[in-house]
Amino acid sequence: MKYEYKRQCRCGHTETIEVTRKEACFCLKENEIWCKKCSKCGGNKTSCMIYPSVEIEKDLLLEWGNNENYYFCEQDEDLVLAHDVDFNIILDVLDNHQILQYKRDMLVFALFVMVYNNLKINKALANKIITELKKRPTDVENAESWIDDYISKVVFPMLK
Ligand SMILES: [Zn+2]
Repeated sequence: MKYEYKRQCRCGHTETIEVTRKEACFCLKENEIWCKKCSKCGGNKTSCMIYPSVEIEKDLLLEWGNNENYYFCEQDEDLVLAHDVDFNIILDVLDNHQILQYKRDMLVFALFVMVYNNLKINKALANKIITELKKRPTDVENAESWIDDYISKVVFPMLK
């Protein structure tokens, strides 16, 4: 699997830059590539950039969980986690691995987002996650302050 950025210079020239899976996942080379000199005109004004997409698997989730400097590329990490990561991987990390507390809270928050997002489209999945959240009251309590009101209003009553 190749992880490539496509960077287009304002002169129109497009370059493809290969990065590692980890660099792609945590955007470690983003700034460098954005500011890179164009091989055609020598300028460093980027007009657009296409990012490589990375499947967030368990090893990457653990690296993220233990490194304060690692972020997933998008701004809303909770949304990335809720959309792109299998909830079984999140449960596995919560139950079997040591990660930073605030990242742990973010994972629980992501589970809340998953419940909320799936209530109408995949009720069975939402119920499955609710069952798992009920088994982890301490995690839920720790994450409570992170969770947006519109989500807690709907999901917390379901945990009763
Ligand atoms: Zn150029």
